Amino acid sequence: MFLCLLASRSQMKGSIDTGCSAHPSLNDSLQGEIQAFLTDEDQLHTYDDLTKVNPVTPTTVLKCLQARYSVKVFYTHAGCTLVALNPFQPIPDLYSLDVMKEYHCAPQPQEFKPHIFIMAEEAYRNVRGQLEPVNQSLVVSGESGAGKTWTSRCLMNYYATVAASSSVLKSQDTVERIERRVLDSNPIMEAFGNACTLRNNNSSRFGKYIQLQLDRCQLLVGASVQTYLLEKTRVACQPASERNFHIFYQVLHQTQKSHVFRFVFKDSFVETMDAMVHLGIDKEKQQQIFRILAGILHLGNVRFSPSTDETQPCNLDEKSKGNRSAELLHVSAEELLTCLRVRTLKAGKQSVLKPCSQAECSVRRDCLAKVIYALIFDWLVTFINNSICADRSTWCNFIGVLDVYGFECFRINNLEQLCINYANEKLQQHFVAHYLRAQQEEYVSEGLEWSFVKYQDNQSCLDLLEGSPISVFSLLNEESRLNRASDARTLKLRLEKELCGNANISWDRFSTVPHFTVAHYAGRVSYQIEGMVEKNKDPVPPELISLFQESENLLLHQIFADKEAQNPTTKGLGKVTVVSKFKNSLESLMKILHATTPHYTRCIKPNPDCKPMTFKKEEVIMQLEACGIVETIHISAAGFPISFIQRYGLIARHSNAVGSNGVLSPVTLLPPHCFCLSDMYHSLCLILCHMFACLSREKHKSLLH
Ligand code: ADP
Ligand code: MG
Repeated sequence: MFLCLLASRSQMKGSIDTGCSAHPSLNDSLQGEIQAFLTDEDQLHTYDDLTKVNPVTPTTVLKCLQARYSVKVFYTHAGCTLVALNPFQPIPDLYSLDVMKEYHCAPQPQEFKPHIFIMAEEAYRNVRGQLEPVNQSLVVSGESGAGKTWTSRCLMNYYATVAASSSVLKSQDTVERIERRVLDSNPIMEAFGNACTLRNNNSSRFGKYIQLQLDRCQLLVGASVQTYLLEKTRVACQPASERNFHIFYQVLHQTQKSHVFRFVFKDSFVETMDAMVHLGIDKEKQQQIFRILAGILHLGNVRFSPSTDETQPCNLDEKSKGNRSAELLHVSAEELLTCLRVRTLKAGKQSVLKPCSQAECSVRRDCLAKVIYALIFDWLVTFINNSICADRSTWCNFIGVLDVYGFECFRINNLEQLCINYANEKLQQHFVAHYLRAQQEEYVSEGLEWSFVKYQDNQSCLDLLEGSPISVFSLLNEESRLNRASDARTLKLRLEKELCGNANISWDRFSTVPHFTVAHYAGRVSYQIEGMVEKNKDPVPPELISLFQESENLLLHQIFADKEAQNPTTKGLGKVTVVSKFKNSLESLMKILHATTPHYTRCIKPNPDCKPMTFKKEEVIMQLEACGIVETIHISAAGFPISFIQRYGLIARHSNAVGSNGVLSPVTLLPPHCFCLSDMYHSLCLILCHMFACLSREKHKSLLH
């Protein structure tokens, strides 16, 4: 099934400027292809597709990307995926309306210079489908600060512009109504879900999958958002030199009181408020939200000191006694301070009150702050969905944009990293299954002689993490449900005993800190066991839930009532743990992804300090390895014929259209953009196709051997 590289997006000889006006002619394309066989390093920056680099090794791929970065070219195809290097500075006109127009209106955008808009446009055209419409997913991956959220925003801007139901492409002002609302969901979610971290000063602390809903005419009629695993611990405590969620600084900037609060340290508030208004969050609701946020901040300043009499609750200093959190959260101050310091134990119908230790009081305070914040975040997401989601009868297809946290490996890793890395394993498996395995299997089924490209199948790692009956998650969940006192020690012993034969898990026997190390596809990560069970239980004292169900702040009252309704079993085996909830939401996401045509963008962070135009080889190579780019290039090179058909819409209308000898029957081929062209031109295309098939076969063989 070999077709030509004619007009393939990878042909053209790259142009080094950043504007998008210089598009190559067919001659340039062929010229570029011939150049691909050269190993002249001076020309590396011209290689628009890493499949052209010869030979494909981590070093040559790195050199090519570095050469392109040095001449301010940030996008490079890597076969079926797109590599996006973060310039860490605004690039004038790279995402302008004119550029969107050019990519959208081009008969063959693939011939243009690599750009996120090629992928966006390809997905948009794919929706139309060749035989029937197909939902699309754009999966944006990369480590923190690599540019995932920026890329997702670019994609959303693109669709809000090219698929706008109002008169398109006149000016950015035409992006209004539903398009405006969809875009306005970003500043709200970023204000509440992003924070300044050491790696990125606008780091998303949650995962997001947004489905852009298109009607029969492919116009954007709505959207829905699904979020994953908000890092709510940040509300109560932030790593050194990192900050709390942006919204706190925005609110405080208004009041100039940021120095007073322990939970935070300023920002513009206007954009968030405007977006809220556009989405229908009225001033009254906004006030309720802001009061709650202020309440959370005051709550953070409540301090406890041990009581001399152990049978009595912890002491509060004068400041904490007069703390304003209860007033702002509209609950009784006395009851709040009692609930924070005294646990109610239920034994049958009897209740026993037990004073909490100083440490337990602090945990209860922080836990309350976290749960209130997480519930407000969830409420906002639901509100946004109600505001932007179209009626099911009005939309036919969607394009999903996935922006999730990349693989993480810190000095100390805990449950958050375990979940994030598990999500990345799932996405990698999806990628491998979709592109790599599928393409190799297709080769076998086509009866083509092929030397297999090795890729890492990460099923064994996923089995270790989530398999049944015994896996890291099953053991963690069991420990979380059993409520044992020394859970960290027991968990460690059980992991060692029950998973000792598994090659994907190991322990450093000499380490004094209980941990386990997982061999992920992207590298080995050691997870600290201490605190993991408690994090997985994520307990909220029932006394606090009952108290806040009685809050006179209508919003608080509602979100706490909903929490109880969703989660009636707060005890026993039915308890929903963080891991089980995350696993379920991820499984639903994977089902959606599997039912769509995916497009992968790998964002790369060229340096750890977010410095403009600085390319650190060691940093980049690690990221290239982590996403298996070299394997992707090898397989993509091998799989060109398939992607060519998909990309150029040469429609094999009948299943026997492509014979096992790789010959396409001319009758069954139909380039969609050639509908109006003469039969002569059509035939010429086909002849050229066959001619270049030979060239491509030889080239790709040479790449792989
Ligand atoms: P991630 O979501 O992967 O953590 P972001 O998308 O937030 O990373 O990107 C981090 C920062 O890098 C952004 O705030 C922005 O300043 C810069 N950035 C990312 N992509 C681009 C781009 N294509 N052009 C200019 N700046 C970018
Ligand atoms: Mg982000």
